[in-house]
Order: sequence, then C-alpha cells, then structure tokens
Amino acid sequence: MAYRLERAGFAVTVLEARKRVGGRNWTLRRGDKVELDGVAEQFVQFSEGMYFNAGPARIPSHHQGLLGYCKILDVPLEVEVNFSNSNLLESAKAFGGKPIQERQAINDFRGQIAELLSKATNRDALDHELSADDKDRLIAFLRTYGDLTKENIYKGSDRSGYKVLPGAFDQVGVKRDPLSLRDLLKDEALAGMMFDENIVMQATMLEPVGGMDRIPYAFHKSIKTPIHLDAEVKRISQTTDRAEAVYLDRRSGNTIELFADFVVCTIPLPVLAEIDNDFSAPVKQAIAGAVYDHSAKVAFESSRFWEAEQIYGGLSFGTAATGVVWYPSNGFQSARGIIIGAYVSGKAATAFEALPIAQQIALARNAVDKLHPGHGVDLGSPVAVDWNKVPYSLGPWMHWQDNPTDATAYRLLNQPEGRIYFSGAHLSQLPSWQEGAVVAAHRTIELITTRVGAAKSSAKS
Ligand SMILES: Cc1cc2nc3c(=O)[nH]c(=O)nc-3n(C[C@H](O)[C@H](O)[C@H](O)COP(=O)(O)OP(=O)(O)OC[C@H]3O[C@@H](n4cnc5c(N)ncnc54)[C@H](O)[C@@H]3O)c2cc1C
Repeated sequence: MAYRLERAGFAVTVLEARKRVGGRNWTLRRGDKVELDGVAEQFVQFSEGMYFNAGPARIPSHHQGLLGYCKILDVPLEVEVNFSNSNLLESAKAFGGKPIQERQAINDFRGQIAELLSKATNRDALDHELSADDKDRLIAFLRTYGDLTKENIYKGSDRSGYKVLPGAFDQVGVKRDPLSLRDLLKDEALAGMMFDENIVMQATMLEPVGGMDRIPYAFHKSIKTPIHLDAEVKRISQTTDRAEAVYLDRRSGNTIELFADFVVCTIPLPVLAEIDNDFSAPVKQAIAGAVYDHSAKVAFESSRFWEAEQIYGGLSFGTAATGVVWYPSNGFQSARGIIIGAYVSGKAATAFEALPIAQQIALARNAVDKLHPGHGVDLGSPVAVDWNKVPYSLGPWMHWQDNPTDATAYRLLNQPEGRIYFSGAHLSQLPSWQEGAVVAAHRTIELITTRVGAAKSSAKS
C-alpha cells in the first residue's frame, strides 16, 4: 500500500503495532520469540539457517499482483512443491490403517472408474448418450486413461508405484497390487487426491528463497515512507477537514496524534473492533460482526527421513484433528529441514487451539509418527502458532460467506467512511491470500487518487 501510494505522489506514514513489518507474513528463525495471548512465550530453537513460515508459505501462479511485486523488488523465488504423488494419504477406515502413496489412490481409483465406465459403455447403458463411434473412441481413451488391459480390465499399473523397483540386469520392476475400489471408497479423505486440481493448491507453486518475509522486507527497503514500528493505533477519528490516528509508541510509552487527509486502515477486523473510533453505527456493526476462521501450525526441525521415503516437498494427508503434514521445498538432500507436523484450519482448528501447546505438539508429533512410523522421535525444536491468539491478528483470515449478514458488511467496508478507507485481504475476494491484500490495496489507491483528482479539478474550475 505505502509503496504504491508513495509512487502515486502521496506523503505517507505507516503505523505498525508490531516490532517488524509483514503482519501475518511471519517467518520464524532461531531466537525469535512467539507470543500468543494467554500462552507462555516460546523461543524458536531451530539451527542457524532454518526457517518456518508460520503464516503464508506458498504463492499460486495466478497471483500475478504479488508475483509482479516479487519481480520488481528482486525477491528471488523458488518452486514450492505443494503436491506430489509421492506424498501420503492415511485413513483410519481404509488400507488397513496404513499410509499409502497418493499415486496409489489416484491411479488405482482412476483405473477402477475407467473399468466401470467401459463396462457400462459395453453393456449399452450409455446408448442414449453415445453413438457407436463415440463408444469406440471412449473405450479407446479409457484404456489409456485408466491403464486398462486390452480386455478393459484394471489389473494395476506402474503409475501406482512398485513393490520391487526396476534395477540392474534382471531385477524387473514389480508393480504394486491395486487397491480395491471398495477400500478406496471407505477412505473419508479420498477427495484429498483432488487437492492439486484446486487452482489455489496447484502442484507447483512459488515461495521466496529464504522465507516469505523476504517480500515485506523488500517492500520496506524500497520505500522512503517512514514506518513507525511498535506504534499501536489506539484511536481513529475524523472531522470534515482531516483524519486522525492516535497511537501508542510502545517503546517510549508516549501517546502520539497524527493528522492527515486520509487514513487507510488495514487492521484485521477483530483487532479493529477493539480500537476506539468515531465510525458510523453501521460501520461499527459491520466490523464487530466479522467472524474470523481458526488456524494453527506446529513446526519441528528434523533430519530429512521423508526423503528416504521418496518425499521431496508437498503435503501428506493425515488425521482430521491435525490436518496436513507439510515437507520443505528447500534444502533438498541437506542434513536437516523444517517439517510442519500439524496445519489445521476451520472447525478442527478451533478444537486444536483449545488444547495446551504441549498437547498440540504431542498430537503433531504423533501425526508424523503415524505417517512415518518410528520417526516421531526425530522431531525437535517444536514451535506452535495458534493464529487466533496472535496479537494484532486474532485470526488467520475470514470467509464472508460464513455469516449471512456479511454481504452488506463487506460492501459497506469496501466504501470510504468519510476520510477513512478500509483495506486489506479481508476486503477482497481472496481473503485468505496475500494477493487479496495486493488487489484490495490497488483498489483503495484508485479510490483515493480519483477522489483527490476530482477535488483538484473542482478547485481549478
Ligand atoms: C496460517 C496462515 C496461512 C496462510 N497461507 C497463505 C499462503 O500460503 N499464501 C498466501 O498468499 N497467503 C496466505 N495466508 C494469508 C495471508 O497471510 C494474508 O491474507 C495477508 O498476509 C493479509 O495481509 P493484510 O495486509 O491484509 O493483513 P495483515 O498482514 O494482518 O496486516 C495488518 C497489519 O496491521 C497491523 N496492526 C494490527 N493492529 C494494529 C494496531 N492497533 N496499530 C497498528 N498496526 C496494527 C498488524 O500488525 C499487521 O502488520 C495465510 C495466513 C495464515 C494466517
């Protein structure tokens, strides 16, 4: 926001309550302190050079606003492996409770479905929909699609991996026995195999080399605008001529008043709801009514045992209570890495966050151990971040559609309240993405420039 406003010719001052820039874009490294409301402080003990993106960790290829800034600001990017067929899927109800590789679920399921569809086609069940030629073409395609035999039967595929890997001389590869359709259907999390079809969960995404916070630090470096850190806004108000922000300088303890033509407020709504203001009653109500989601992550430092199991990045799907296990996409084949043992959002995260931190860590360790038996003990230097307890955030993101009164509130907060403009990811259609903050900022700046332009031309005429 400040970067663009400054380049549009505005004199800007940034007030930031934290000791650092970036907000929810928060990368933790050795020695960092994690302060959560109502929880004892945690100190990050990772080895030098290791980091954990406690908030955002991946950027999809269509988030061109954010990626564009990475390019302009020279933030080097690397591939974030978001999904790989070598990742694991675990279900209490299927596969004898043992984790399987995603490639087994995906390809065995596809093979079984292709066989069923070819049977239905050959038994003339689809004659209404398909001509004789269509049927022939469909059957031919299904053979390739599902790796069927020439009799249109699925007997397993090396797409699903090997029991014995192809090797030297006469070590012939032996493909795995196919999982039965019945077993696959028992897996309540089977839909997870579609994960990377979601445009925001593409198999290969991007991440800044060295940590997500390279982006806000690059913004910081590129602007002349003063950024007051440790500046906690306590009141926002306005008269017809000017807007005012009162903040507490947490370093000196002084209360300071700032006056400006406009205030742009990107403070998350649960935090803003507690800040003194003179907003209109409907605006106050819109802010107070916003309900944020829940989300928690637990990270560990570990030896890279997962790489010996063919896993290089991506996520494995474990139990609902702890969500996914997430492997690093950097430092492949090095000695150690940061693994996320629990990343859980929504209802499950509400329950997870209610547990003591030690229990959250134990559950995350257990989730990793279930996917990678015997390796729970390898996990060290745990750190847990419950986003609803993070001061100045009080939640990971919001989904407006969760609350029926939200549509009006969303539209209202997307309009200026006199000289106050609300902005931030929560006021975009991408409330849980950094791109949301980018596009919302662009819109806010356009609203302000149009207003200032109109005021200038009416003053001239
Ligand atoms: C767990 C998690 C995972 C995520 N994963 C991804 C991902 O992989 N990719 C992605 O693109 N996005 C992801 N996101 C979303 C992304 O982090 C946010 O959408 C984005 O960072 C929001 O930016 P913002 O500027 O709107 O808000 P914020 O980053 O929250 O900025 C608001 C700022 O206001 C400051 N503030 C608050 N109160 C005051 C006060 N009283 N006075 C002064 N300053 C104050 C805060 O300190 C903060 O700096 C994730 C978020 C979380 C929490």
